[in-house]
Amino acid sequence: MKIEIAKSAGFCFGVKRAVVEAYRVLEQKEYENEGKKIYSIGPLIHNEIVTNDLKSKGLIELNDINDIKELKNEKVIIRTHGTLKYIEDMLKENGNEIIDLTCPFVGKIHKLVSEYSEKGYKIIVIGDKNHPEVKGIVSRAKNDIYVIICKNDINNLKIDKNSNILLVCQTTTNVNNAQILVDILRDLFYNIKIVKTICNATENRQEEVKKLAKSSDVMLIIGSKSSSNTKKLYEISKVFCENSYLLSEKSDTKNISINKDAVVGVSAGASTPENLIEEIIDNVRNEF
Ligand code: SF4
Repeated sequence: MKIEIAKSAGFCFGVKRAVVEAYRVLEQKEYENEGKKIYSIGPLIHNEIVTNDLKSKGLIELNDINDIKELKNEKVIIRTHGTLKYIEDMLKENGNEIIDLTCPFVGKIHKLVSEYSEKGYKIIVIGDKNHPEVKGIVSRAKNDIYVIICKNDINNLKIDKNSNILLVCQTTTNVNNAQILVDILRDLFYNIKIVKTICNATENRQEEVKKLAKSSDVMLIIGSKSSSNTKKLYEISKVFCENSYLLSEKSDTKNISINKDAVVGVSAGASTPENLIEEIIDNVRNEF
């Protein structure tokens, strides 16, 4: 068996930055000395192994808005996806200290949307309207904002052709799909400013998976089923390699079969820790 691991597999810059900083803050325990607790708004990243470990070290994850409203004078981590503008404002008003671990690439989109909507631009976002990153982006707009993901959504846009428009993308959206939509929108509107905000880490990872899947008999995509960028990698891989599997934990290797002569390609989502990738590869070497 030949195993080829994508160079881009695993933690991206933004996730690594957030995880390292969260562990540092938890280990230094300064918040305890100040008589405070430490919270995160939603899971820090989309990987249960990491988030469970952070919880065991003292991080309290809040998902209910009523619990978030109760927070006063505590330390609060904002995760890589960012959060809704009004939540951020409310936390500050309630005297909480914010540890902002929003990925700088997501922060750049927040800044663009807020600046351009202030100038009266209408905003179009290519992405998944239910994704937390997109909800955070939408919450920064002071004017009309539209989220689209397919050609049909463009047909339903009710925007004058002469309007000033800013177009941005969810950082992890599919590059090829976004390009198709950008080309249509460019022809449709006269005053459209396009800022391609898809993160390079995502673009490189998707390209590498495409190439690896074409030359592999089996593809293993490692990461959480709740991670949108991991699911996208799996979808891309499946197009080029029928025997593609999404594995979230090492025991998942029991549910697949690999021929001992197979060429096996491996990639992983941006929030997948290195030790999980290593454990799964070890299992594959030992079991098949
Ligand atoms: S995928 Fe890109 S935008 Fe998202 S957290 Fe990682 S580096 Fe930041």
